Amino acid sequence: MTPEKAIEWMRLFNGKLQENKAYLSDLDTPIGDGDHGGNMARGMASVMENLDGKDFASADEVFKVVSMQLISKVGGASGPLYGSAFMGLTKALKAGEDLTKGLQDGLEMIQKRGKAEVGEKTMVDVWTPVLGAISEGQLTEELVDKAVEATKDLKATKGRASYVGERSVGHIDPGSYSSGLLFKALIEAEVLNG
Ligand code: ADP
Ligand code: MG
Repeated sequence: MTPEKAIEWMRLFNGKLQENKAYLSDLDTPIGDGDHGGNMARGMASVMENLDGKDFASADEVFKVVSMQLISKVGGASGPLYGSAFMGLTKALKAGEDLTKGLQDGLEMIQKRGKAEVGEKTMVDVWTPVLGAISEGQLTEELVDKAVEATKDLKATKGRASYVGERSVGHIDPGSYSSGLLFKALIEAEVLNG
């Protein structure tokens, strides 16, 4: 992946987060503390400030900036989790691995930090099926939407939403929705096609 493609992906992700900032916080209101939109919008705005107008020799250098900014600028649980994911991606690409392996390492980092398994109503419930589809060359917007939508029926057993227990059922998980935006941006940037 070229650094230009990496920046394009991040630009599209940021655009979607800014557009959906209020909605993401609305999702985080009944099952959390209503800050997910603000957290992600602030974090990625700061990422873009640190990417724009700079020269990068490789995509891993771009993702390193993304990781550092998300870890340092986002107060919620999601900042360190996304930050870890981008660190996993950075290290894999730097070691010469491809994007698919890089994203798998990213998911591994999310799970190492957050200890969530599939079915606990977290971003892991989107990352897991999406990465499965990517490795089979089958990623579509519909698949992303389905994975995000499927978090609605789950009961949260990790993160802040686990505090409301049964009452988390019936609401889409905010971190899953923002992860859906990340993967839709990936499709739009045509990163997977080279
Ligand atoms: P906070 O919960 O600290 O307010 P955010 O609202 O920004 O942080 O992010 C909440 C999202 O983070 C959740 O919707 C969920 O997807 C994700 N999340 C929380 N805890 C975990 C975890 N242990 N593992 C994976 N993802 C998690
Ligand atoms: Mg929150």
